[in-house]
Amino acid sequence: MLKTVRQSANAKTGPIAVTYRAGTGSMFGTCPAKCPLNPAPAAGAAVIDRGYLDAVRRAVPRNGRAWTYSHFPAEKLPVPAAGETVINFSADTLAAALKARKLGRPTTLTLATGAEIPKRVDGVRLVRCPAEISDSITCSSCGDGEPLCARGDRDFVVVFTAHGSQARLVGADIAGGCYGAGGHVAMQWRATSQKGAPDDAAALEAFAASLPPGSFLRHHVVGDIGRQR
Ligand code: SF4
Repeated sequence: MLKTVRQSANAKTGPIAVTYRAGTGSMFGTCPAKCPLNPAPAAGAAVIDRGYLDAVRRAVPRNGRAWTYSHFPAEKLPVPAAGETVINFSADTLAAALKARKLGRPTTLTLATGAEIPKRVDGVRLVRCPAEISDSITCSSCGDGEPLCARGDRDFVVVFTAHGSQARLVGADIAGGCYGAGGHVAMQWRATSQKGAPDDAAALEAFAASLPPGSFLRHHVVGDIGRQR
């Protein structure tokens, strides 16, 4: 199920196009069951939805930029190609982030709130999301027209610090920590699982094609590329 928003009101993304993706009747239905942040692993997906993934890769606004994040294993994610949506591997540990970099996948890393962020580890640069350190930067203004997360060939890891009501669980040895599991985002996500477009691949392609040239599209404020069980 897919929900599309032409202009997000979110303070962090700024006024860009975004989507939400959920399973039918389950917020976590498209997220990997093995994601350590997933508080409902039994509802999660075991495999990637290949048809939907193909749609995501193609769903880039004309002359624009598109990106997303996935908690599926880095080696299962496509290597970025010119003109396609950039699919970032979303790591929850430094070791996983470094491994993904070695595999040539664009990588983000979420650390526990207050964790120290090293500038470089094993020759890999770590760069904190600029929107976390400046109120005047959003995804729409990040990177002077080339948002950091939309750079498929970057040689650094983008670092976030955990946020949302579940943040205390990030880096802890218990399932949970997904920032979308609580608050306003959860309300939108739950609604997506109940009233979103059922053919998410078709809805996504139509949405991307309808956006003005030069638009930015961030896929999956919440949700992932999994196939619902
Ligand atoms: S690094 Fe830039 S594009 Fe990525 S989430 Fe932060 S502001 Fe948005």
